[in-house]
Amino acid sequence: MVVEMHAGLASDGGSKLKMLLTFVDALPNGNEEGIYYSIDLGGTNFRVLRVEVGAGSVIINQKVEHQPIPEELTKGTTEDLFNFVALALKSFLEREDDQDVKRALGFTFSFPVRQNSVSSGSLIRWTKGFSIEDTVGKDVAQCLNDALARCGLNVRVTALVNDTVGTLALGHYYDEDTVAAVIIGSGTNACYIERTDAIIKCQGLLTNSGGMVVNMEWGNFWSSHLPRTLYDISLDDETQNRNDQQSQQGFEKMISGMYLGEIARLVLHRMAQESDVFGDAADSLSNPFILSTPFLAAIREDDSPDLSEVRRVLQEHLKIPDAPLKTRRLVVKVCDIVTRRAARLAAAGIVGILKKLGRDGSGGVASTSSSSGGRARGQQPRRTVVAIEGGLYQGYPVLREYLDEALVEILGEEVARSVTLRVTEDGSGIGAALLAAVHSSNSQQQVP
Ligand code: BGC
Ligand code: MG
Repeated sequence: MVVEMHAGLASDGGSKLKMLLTFVDALPNGNEEGIYYSIDLGGTNFRVLRVEVGAGSVIINQKVEHQPIPEELTKGTTEDLFNFVALALKSFLEREDDQDVKRALGFTFSFPVRQNSVSSGSLIRWTKGFSIEDTVGKDVAQCLNDALARCGLNVRVTALVNDTVGTLALGHYYDEDTVAAVIIGSGTNACYIERTDAIIKCQGLLTNSGGMVVNMEWGNFWSSHLPRTLYDISLDDETQNRNDQQSQQGFEKMISGMYLGEIARLVLHRMAQESDVFGDAADSLSNPFILSTPFLAAIREDDSPDLSEVRRVLQEHLKIPDAPLKTRRLVVKVCDIVTRRAARLAAAGIVGILKKLGRDGSGGVASTSSSSGGRARGQQPRRTVVAIEGGLYQGYPVLREYLDEALVEILGEEVARSVTLRVTEDGSGIGAALLAAVHSSNSQQQVP
């Protein structure tokens, strides 16, 4: 991971890790004041937010409206998708009476974007099952601005941010030791604060802070070291963004919520074909995506002695009645293995970032940890906070346990103790509103 991070920072196309510039060189520090809006588009849910902040890191008020994105919009036209988004904001605003408020808008767009500025950037490609061909290459902030204008709204995008960047912003707002953010939801990704002089592909890049947030797009990470199985290859074949040579979003397809259930389904399907563990009633297992990740989680988390929840999921969702206890145990085991691999890969990714930042304890801390006591003060591992969010991570305790366990295993207990994974709620959207606040004063696109 670290090698690929360096390569991605050295040149565009130097690695499957895109290491995208975000132009976010300042994070909210708690002095922001006012009312800001944001829109969060990119996973399973779509959100509109209104955030009222006061000095001293106080969120005075926040209102979040969730709604699922109609499936057909993810495969339709650019106009339809952005009209849907703009209209949702419009109806939200109509129910607020902020008429005279300056409306800075943060737009969380959770796909890979090549940014030209903090408020503009073009879509590189869709992920997570979205596929609207004519959006690729377009400035998505402009697409939204056009849709906002079409529905008569006097609001324009002030900050266009990836969900990881929004999450980092909220994390940093509360705690300045926050240096990175990770999403494990429908998709997976991470961002972190990099020194501008380490961003070789953009020589001469100057920022006031000397740093910039880099969106890694780690979902696309690939390495011959990854333990790719037959099932991963079959899964890739079933996806929108399949790739014959090397998987697109290959890391994501081993980790995130969109895919884990399906990996388990592929394993179970093969078991059904090659043995009689499921009897004759296993036809349903040949249906792609019939086992969704929430069901995989429900199966793995069933700790009743007779695995009654497993029985229920098998009966109701997979149409496999009467699977004996032995078979149910086998199903749990498969879901466990798929979950554990995902969690451990995500943990390894996090350690990659810590290593790149020199916070993995390898610089002296580890070597002194064997000596009993007497460690010089300066050698204490530095406190590091990683903001983390996403439906899969938040909704699946077993995955979290495995992830924590792997961090301790790789970093050692002492260094792992200095690393806090801080869960935020709606951070990607709230953070985008805060970034709109930070950047509204110097944005030319600000509409009074
Ligand atoms: C996207 C990222 C996003 C991640 C989590 C991935 O599929 O490429 O931009 O941050 O999902 O939502
Ligand atoms: Mg999201």
